Amino acid sequence: MAQILNGNLVRDQIKGECLPRVTRVMEKAGRAPGLAVVLVGDNAASAVYVRNKTKTAEELGVHHETITPDASLSTHELLAIVAELNAREDIDGILIQLPLPSHIDAQKALLAVSPEKDVDGFHPCNVGLLSTGRPGLRPCTPSGVIEILKRYEIPIAGRNAVVVGRSDIVGKPMALLLLQENATVTICHSRTRDLAVVCRGAEILVAAIGRAAMITEEFIAPGAVVIDVGMNTVRTRAEAERIFDPARLADFDKRGSLLVGDVHPGAMARLSSAYTPVPGGVGPLTIAMLMRNTIEAAERRVGIC
Ligand code: NDP
Repeated sequence: MAQILNGNLVRDQIKGECLPRVTRVMEKAGRAPGLAVVLVGDNAASAVYVRNKTKTAEELGVHHETITPDASLSTHELLAIVAELNAREDIDGILIQLPLPSHIDAQKALLAVSPEKDVDGFHPCNVGLLSTGRPGLRPCTPSGVIEILKRYEIPIAGRNAVVVGRSDIVGKPMALLLLQENATVTICHSRTRDLAVVCRGAEILVAAIGRAAMITEEFIAPGAVVIDVGMNTVRTRAEAERIFDPARLADFDKRGSLLVGDVHPGAMARLSSAYTPVPGGVGPLTIAMLMRNTIEAAERRVGIC
């Protein structure tokens, strides 16, 4: 039977480890680590994500504030907000919630965040530090995946890892982090030939694609460890029938939609030796890693590490 890699447990461990670190920052600096979130406009999904982040900050005693400029804000005005946050002594982490309205130059905005406050790990400085193996702030979702693997004592060094997806947010940093752990890494994308054959060569398979249950049986080597980063919503019954077992199908009928990853859940449970379920796998880790990054940024800024 495949082992289920429980992201909620790992998240709780990480949150537990954050608490004494918050206390140390307070003792050293006389203030809590501080996180500022910039939420532009009124995107409902983004507002939910931001609420979840601030709720976790609250639980951990991390100071947080959310700046909510109107959607009509210009790039120039957003840069001014970021500059102000960069200059603030009490703010250690700055997060610009994506997506931004289309008239705003998102690259410019992300580049404006001071690298030592870039708790998302998206700034090219932090990308460079990651790719050269130097300490720096790492992107939250892929570093959460490494935490899951390590805490479940899944060996990484020397193993063949295949990452499907090459986004700057997940796929690329995931591949770099696995490489840093001495895996032999292959990165796949929409132009990869014979994707199923390449994936079947994986001892650790990471799917970060954004396509509901695209990774099916023929992509998974028996005994592989499968990490499903995907978060997709299934809305049609035909698709639900392709993906879910009768129990979950009943759930679908009740709710009218269901969350699914990039990997077919039945195939993953049947073939893998261990896997992250959706929900309850990688998802819970992202916010925990954001908090850890904020605390780490504070520790560096107040001279703890
Ligand atoms: P992007 O859309 O930015 O990237 C998707 C990647 O998948 C691209 O590199 C693309 O290739 C590749 N891809 C698309 N279709 C195929 C295909 N048919 N065959 C092979 N590769 C393909 O998505 P993200 O990286 O931002 O997110 C990926 C998934 O992870 C999404 O489901 C997202 O919701 C989820 N996610 C989950 C998080 C969490 O906290 N659990 C956090 C962030 C994301 P190409 O580059 O060639 O276009």
